[in-house]
Amino acid sequence: MSSTPAPSVVRAPAIPPGVVSGDTYRALLQACRKGGYALPAVNVSSSSTANAALAAARENKADIVIQISAGGARFYAGQALPDEQQARILGATALAQHVHLLARHYGVAVILHTDHANRPLLGWIDGLVEESRRHYAQTGRPLFSSHMLDLSTEPLADNIAAASTLMGKLSPLGIGLEIELGMTGGEEDGIGQELHDGNPSCNPSLYTNPEDVLTAWKTLSPLGMLSIAASFGNIHGVYAPGNVCLRPEILRASQALVAERLHTGPNPIPLVFHGGSGSEETAIRQAINFGVFKFNIDTDTQFAYAQGIAHYIRNHEEAFTHQVSPLTGRPLKKSYDIRCWMKAGEDRFTQRLTDCFHILGARGRSIARPS
Ligand SMILES: [Zn+2]
Repeated sequence: MSSTPAPSVVRAPAIPPGVVSGDTYRALLQACRKGGYALPAVNVSSSSTANAALAAARENKADIVIQISAGGARFYAGQALPDEQQARILGATALAQHVHLLARHYGVAVILHTDHANRPLLGWIDGLVEESRRHYAQTGRPLFSSHMLDLSTEPLADNIAAASTLMGKLSPLGIGLEIELGMTGGEEDGIGQELHDGNPSCNPSLYTNPEDVLTAWKTLSPLGMLSIAASFGNIHGVYAPGNVCLRPEILRASQALVAERLHTGPNPIPLVFHGGSGSEETAIRQAINFGVFKFNIDTDTQFAYAQGIAHYIRNHEEAFTHQVSPLTGRPLKKSYDIRCWMKAGEDRFTQRLTDCFHILGARGRSIARPS
């Protein structure tokens, strides 16, 4: 007997597992918006953390955003390459190839993204666009699903002008662009603002003006797939309680203003939550209600990975000082094997992401189906 699904359950259209771009990227954003959930956007800097992220997505039957910063890309390529810009391009390309090859076997959809690029890092993005052109010529798909431009410290007009130029290069390849409006506090690989007096609630620049969101959306959204990280008091990194004063109603006001002036449906803008580590669950849920589809997480997953390894070393102390046990004469190879202690880090990283999928309402929501 066939069972009919409840009428309230609207199934999102399925897409093939793997890295999304163009129409599949749009379908995934649409599924998040209609389903009222968001995806964790986790920073990785190695094949180990990339695999831990893919494992978390698979375990939770959820789609995911995997992103790499310029510093992470430099690390991915290895520290010995002398040309930093080239190393960043090679490292991000190596991660992209790694994820393209593996993601479809994990059975989930992945938004592959580059994190914060300010003006000095525009050459990094240009290099990656060139790599995407090559990949597109061979496969009909770009390497990355989206890139991020962070010119939030510059005047709005300059920010929009640079975003518009970049979208001219990205859109023909089916690549989206994320921009930042208003300043997110804290540290992000050296890009980020100082906290004023250690209390961001004193600093009005940590809150985006909805009029700026309207101006940016009106100018840029016709040019391609745009998402916006609007700051509402969020801080990169984790700080002592009381230092962060989130005001998600700024997101609601931005969506409402755009919907009213441009006569769109509710929540027209795909919004991004930066500095998600350490945030309160209620603020996160509210932000999702106001159209956040991407929730950046880095500090918490890095700490989880470090905790996993620290715990492992504490439990196998002898193996980190001796190859053979001085007490029993037993070889300790099985304990200091790189794969063992890295796996302990990966497992904790995956667990932390599982919590995140849960809070974001993303568990069991993957729209990837094998064709
Ligand atoms: Zn940011």
